[in-house]
Amino acid sequence: MPNIELFLTSNEEAEIVEAIRIAENTTSGEIRVHIEQKCDIDAYEHALEVFHLLKMNNTQQRNGVLIYVAVDNKSFVILGDQGINNIVGADFWNSTRDKISNQFKSGNFKQGLIDGITEAGKALSQHFPWNDDDKDELDNSISKG
Ligand code: CA
Ligand code: CA
Repeated sequence: MPNIELFLTSNEEAEIVEAIRIAENTTSGEIRVHIEQKCDIDAYEHALEVFHLLKMNNTQQRNGVLIYVAVDNKSFVILGDQGINNIVGADFWNSTRDKISNQFKSGNFKQGLIDGITEAGKALSQHFPWNDDDKDELDNSISKG
C-alpha cells in the first residue's frame, strides 16, 4: 500500500467525507475513518485505542462506528460502540468487512471505505433513526495518526 499521504487523493477524501455526511443524514449514529501509516500491535487492539482517543465512546446512544486503516500493514478494522454492537451481530460486521476487503484487494481504497460507510449507515439508520435534535457529535473529517 502507498504512503499515507498518497493513500487517498484529496478528491477521494472529500468523497469519503461526503459519504459520511450523507450516511449521518439518516441516523443519529456517528461514523469516522482513521488512517495510519503502520500499526505495531494487533490492529483490532489498536483500533479500540483509537476509538477511545477519538472519544468515539462518548456519543449519547453509544452508536459510533470506526473504520481504521493501517496502510503499511495492509489491514483495516471496522468496529462499533456498544449501542450498535448490542443490536447487530457478528454477521453484519463480517459482511461489511468483506465488502470493504473486496474493494481494497483491487486497490479501490476510496470505494472500499465508501462501501463500509454506506453499510454502517444503513444499519445505523435502521436502529438509530435521525431525529430533529440530532447533533454531529463526531467530526466527519478523516483523521490521521
Ligand atoms: Ca449525529
Ligand atoms: Ca459525524
